[in-house]
Amino acid sequence: MSTIETTGADLRTNWAGNVTYRAREVVRPTTLDELRTAVTSNPRVTALGSRHSFNLVADTDGVQIALGAMPEVIEIDSERRVARVAAGLTHARAAAALDEAGFALANLASLPHISVAGAVATGTHGSGVRNASLASSVVGVEIVRASGDVEVLDADHPDLDAHRVGIGALGVVTAVHLAIEPRFDVAQRIHTGLPWEVVDARFEDIMSAGYSVSMFTGYIHDGIRQVWTKRRVERDDPVVDLEDLGAMPSTSPLHPVPGSDNAGVTEQAGVPGPWHERLPHFRSSFTPSAGAEIQCEYLLPASDAVPAIQALRGIGEAMAPVLYVSEIRRVAADTAWLAPSSERDSVAFHFTFHRDPEGVAAVLPLIDAALAPFDARPHWGKVTAMPADQLHAVYPRLGEFAALADRVDPERRFRNPFLTEVLG
Ligand SMILES: Cc1cc2nc3c(=O)[nH]c(=O)nc-3n(C[C@H](O)[C@H](O)[C@H](O)COP(=O)(O)OP(=O)(O)OC[C@H]3O[C@@H](n4cnc5c(N)ncnc54)[C@H](O)[C@@H]3O)c2cc1C
Repeated sequence: MSTIETTGADLRTNWAGNVTYRAREVVRPTTLDELRTAVTSNPRVTALGSRHSFNLVADTDGVQIALGAMPEVIEIDSERRVARVAAGLTHARAAAALDEAGFALANLASLPHISVAGAVATGTHGSGVRNASLASSVVGVEIVRASGDVEVLDADHPDLDAHRVGIGALGVVTAVHLAIEPRFDVAQRIHTGLPWEVVDARFEDIMSAGYSVSMFTGYIHDGIRQVWTKRRVERDDPVVDLEDLGAMPSTSPLHPVPGSDNAGVTEQAGVPGPWHERLPHFRSSFTPSAGAEIQCEYLLPASDAVPAIQALRGIGEAMAPVLYVSEIRRVAADTAWLAPSSERDSVAFHFTFHRDPEGVAAVLPLIDAALAPFDARPHWGKVTAMPADQLHAVYPRLGEFAALADRVDPERRFRNPFLTEVLG
């Protein structure tokens, strides 16, 4: 039977505790029929994943529906290389099962505790010059519409690209079909102290130095503090030697945020291990139940990476009082309409701020202004100061997406205040 929670203090906020949901209750269906009833018996509903977004994209003035109590489905079609995965599972859970069966996903986000459907719904990504967002692995979607009907969109469905990154507007996804490949091992190494002039001259080479590469910086005098290089053991050739470029290999495990406890980071020092225990920065066995931070992130064309870094260096001192660290990643172009990397090879600038809403609100317009010349697109799951009209300018298919949402949800059952502002 569905359970309904109206009190659970922790569920009233997101993971980071920077926003409080106004939803009057959270319904937890245990079967598809209960889920369909939960959708059709409430005039306003929104699917809730693992609450890792930093804005109100998962909120509603009606009822949130969380899928954690639904059956744990992971079905693998090894011939077609497709896994059918229950929407509410975390990547940690799904990845471990896939690995055990000899398979892998192409990429993962930095934290594996995020739900599979929630991650793809906001265009969540990892890094890699050839790796697109996690939504690019979605080759099918099973979804409960506002009418309660269940629809299955397969790889040939004309609207699949609209559904890959659905920001909760099109229905409650019950399962995603994910492209899988044979499992692989990854070795991760960290280098410190990469000077700015090297980044300016060799950005794309450095970001190509592994299957997945991340740079961490504060945009101040100390350049790139850390470069995390994740190489696929069986196939990566080093394109560039970071030591030749002036960086130093780290001899002890490092956390991206200077001074933070490194207990939760994935194994470093080049020790090979399973893909799902190296591609994320944080271990699945270490569960941060809440985080005192606020994140924002912008994606822009990869060809503008160096001038964008220079623009951010211009506001480095202004951000410093509230910035823990910024991560720079590469994301390959995507066909999902609302992926922040849609139709363009992208560079992603992620910022982890102190949980200081006023301090963060003061620096967001500076970041917006610094990145405005580059047509930057904000991440759907993080904070931004960008107004809706500008969102429509940088996301060219947002109007078409709004029209589709109206078609599949004419009574606007899934339209929460966040979506009303974004979609109109
Ligand atoms: C510590 C941390 C690390 C992060 N690392 C990364 C990273 O490496 N890369 C990156 O790009 N982002 C990253 N993020 C952002 C995060 O991946 C996104 O905010 C993601 O959407 C959170 O997923 P969730 O399951 O918590 O979804 P929620 O925040 O609960 O919901 C997000 C959206 O998904 C929708 N949704 C959830 N479930 C369903 C469903 N079943 N059907 C339809 N819609 C659904 C919701 O309605 C809402 O619109 C990180 C966030 C945190 C807190």
